[in-house]
Amino acid sequence: MISLKSKREIELMRDAGRVVAEVLAELRLHCRAGVTTRELDRVAEAKTAKAGAKPLFKGYRGFPRALCTSVNQQVVHGIPGDYVLKDGDIVSMDFGALYKGYCGDAAITVPIGAISLPVANLLRVTEECLYRGIEQMVVGNHLVDVSRAIQLHGESHGYSMVRDLGGHGIGRKMHEDPMVLNYVTDGRGPKLKSGLVLAVEPMVNAGAEDTYTLSDGWTVVTKDRKPSAHFEHTVAVTENGPDILTKLG
Ligand code: MG
Repeated sequence: MISLKSKREIELMRDAGRVVAEVLAELRLHCRAGVTTRELDRVAEAKTAKAGAKPLFKGYRGFPRALCTSVNQQVVHGIPGDYVLKDGDIVSMDFGALYKGYCGDAAITVPIGAISLPVANLLRVTEECLYRGIEQMVVGNHLVDVSRAIQLHGESHGYSMVRDLGGHGIGRKMHEDPMVLNYVTDGRGPKLKSGLVLAVEPMVNAGAEDTYTLSDGWTVVTKDRKPSAHFEHTVAVTENGPDILTKLG
C-alpha cells in the first residue's frame, strides 16, 4: 500500500533528509587514501548522534554498521571494516537516518584521489541517471516514467542497470511501497500523486548487470568485477514538481 505524506510530514522528512545530507557532506571530507571504511562509519555515527538522530541501517536485519560502504566492484550494502581506501578507488556511501519519527535515505559515490577517465564517466552518468529519474517525478506521470528515464540514460552510455535491487517508497519506515526499479518492466506502475515520497537510487554497472552477494550475507558485487556506482536521494512529488529532501540548506 502506498502512503501519501501531508505537507507537514514532508517538512519533517526534510529535517531527517537534512541530517542525512550533512552526514554525507562530512563523510565526503573524510574520503581519502589511507582511511579505512570503518573510520567512515565512525564519522557517520558520531555526526548522527550529534544531530540527535538515529542511524537507520544499524541493526536492520542484523546489519552491523550505521553506514554502507561499497568499494569499486561492490555495488551496495558493503560493511565498513578494515579495508584501507587507496588512490583510484571509488566508494559508494549509503546512509539513512531516523529523525522526529521519519526517515531519510541517500547515497553518493566518491572518487579517492585520481581515478581513471572511464570510472569518472561511470560516476558522472550514474549521478545524471538519478536526476533524470527525479525530473520525471511530477504529478500525473507514472512510476515507469522514472524507471525509464534512469534506464535510458545509463544504457545509452553502454552501462548496465542493476536488476536485483532498486529504490523504494519511504516515510515512517525506511522501506515502503512502491519499489522503484531502475529499468522498465510490464505496465506503467502507479500514477504519481502529490505527497508520494520515494528513495530513488540508480545502481549502474560499467560491465554486465549480473551481481551476487558475498559470504558476509550483505555485500553485493558485480560478477565480472567491473566497477559499479550508486547515487540516491529521497524525493517528494509535489504540486510544484519534485522536491529533493536529502540536500543541504
Ligand atoms: Mg534506499
